[in-house]
Formats: sequence, structure tokens, C-alpha cells
Amino acid sequence: MDENDWASTMETRERDACIDVVRHKQQPQGNGICIDCHEAVEPERRTAQRCISCQQDEDKRQKQRYGTRL
Ligand SMILES: [Zn+2]
Repeated sequence: MDENDWASTMETRERDACIDVVRHKQQPQGNGICIDCHEAVEPERRTAQRCISCQQDEDKRQKQRYGTRL
């Protein structure tokens, strides 16, 4: 591999890393931290915005807000 190949490989890697960062930022999902209690979300729910107990609370709130009227 000559210097030009190496340079373009590094460029590609760097660009891919930047794209990953942007994509990650744009994801609507959570970042492992519950948006309600700011505790770590369970690893198996890493893409969820809330931990399990806050999600259950939120579900209850949603039901109270919309459940009786619908
Ligand atoms: Zn929570």
C-alpha cells in the first residue's frame, strides 16, 4: 500500500466515523440514559428513551390523558 492509498483509507475511515456521529445524533432513540429520571436505562432497552419503571409511569400517564376520552 503506498502513501496515497493509505491517506485515502484514513480519509474514508475518518469520514465514516463522522457520518456515524451525525447518524447517532439524529437517532430519535435514547442514548442509554432515561429522559425522565436520568438513570442508566437497562442494557437490553438501550435504544429506549426511558427506563422500564419510567416507561410504565409514562404509559399510565398516557392512558390517563387519552384513555378515558377515547
Ligand atoms: Zn427512568
